[in-house]
Amino acid sequence: MKTILVIIDGCRSDGLEQARTPNIDHMIEDGAYTLNARTVTPSITLPAHFSIFTSMLPQGHNVFTNTGFPQPSPTARSIIDVAKDHGKKTAAFYSWEQFRNLSAPGSLDHSCFINSSSEGNSDIEIAQAAACNLTSHSPDFCFIYFEGTDIAGHKSGFMSAEYLDAIETADTALGIILNELERTNLSDCYNIILHSDHGGINNHHLENTPEVMTIPWIAVGPGVKQKHIITDKVNIIDTAPTLAGLMNIPVHHTWQGQAVNEIFKPDVFETIQSQFLHSDSNSRPFVEANRQYSEYQISHASQ
Ligand SMILES: [Zn+2]
Repeated sequence: MKTILVIIDGCRSDGLEQARTPNIDHMIEDGAYTLNARTVTPSITLPAHFSIFTSMLPQGHNVFTNTGFPQPSPTARSIIDVAKDHGKKTAAFYSWEQFRNLSAPGSLDHSCFINSSSEGNSDIEIAQAAACNLTSHSPDFCFIYFEGTDIAGHKSGFMSAEYLDAIETADTALGIILNELERTNLSDCYNIILHSDHGGINNHHLENTPEVMTIPWIAVGPGVKQKHIITDKVNIIDTAPTLAGLMNIPVHHTWQGQAVNEIFKPDVFETIQSQFLHSDSNSRPFVEANRQYSEYQISHASQ
């Protein structure tokens, strides 16, 4: 099966609950989710993204700052690289140039970079470019990055009206993707995982507090259970193994996360080899969980 990874930068779980997000609500209703997933320390964008893509804590991939173009440790191997190694077609759509190092040269078949520092909120443009590529090239793995929420959080405060508006814009951008998949009969081909890289408080996301560390993590698609509330402790290092499981490719031996097995439909889970779900050479680091948020209230979706 094919996969799409959508990251909404800086999106808090309670931000989803307060903003009007019909497309994300649709994913939650049709898929599996938790509002209590956890990011890594330091809870900032570039280290977190390297943890998402290489399934390593920052101590493993060695990227600790947002500044410059830090090179990850030689042992780090991105889900994009692993997918390409196994013959998968790969694509990435993003607005922050530091992400060019999330995969090795040659691992991406298509990429689109729109400079958000000149464009402001580029979520809609990113979505339009990705939707076009999904239709024309149907990549097996597609990374789509929405940055506007984090920009609004830093500028106006996390959970401010402007921040909630930006979540709604990200949801509209997601809707462009979902509608295009529906229109082109590709919905049944793609599993989508959507989460954020960290939350935020006041105008930053540097504190080790639930508002910063707790994030929503949502999956939907032909391989994913419907109407399932995830009970496992999910960390962002678990995303890459879960994507690998859905694409039925092996995890890399340096990956520290584990696939979120409970989201897989039973018939799909039976077809995945166990070594495709976690690495035997690494024991999963202790991952704390935050239990701050209860079950998502869908009721506001119809407002
Ligand atoms: Zn971020």
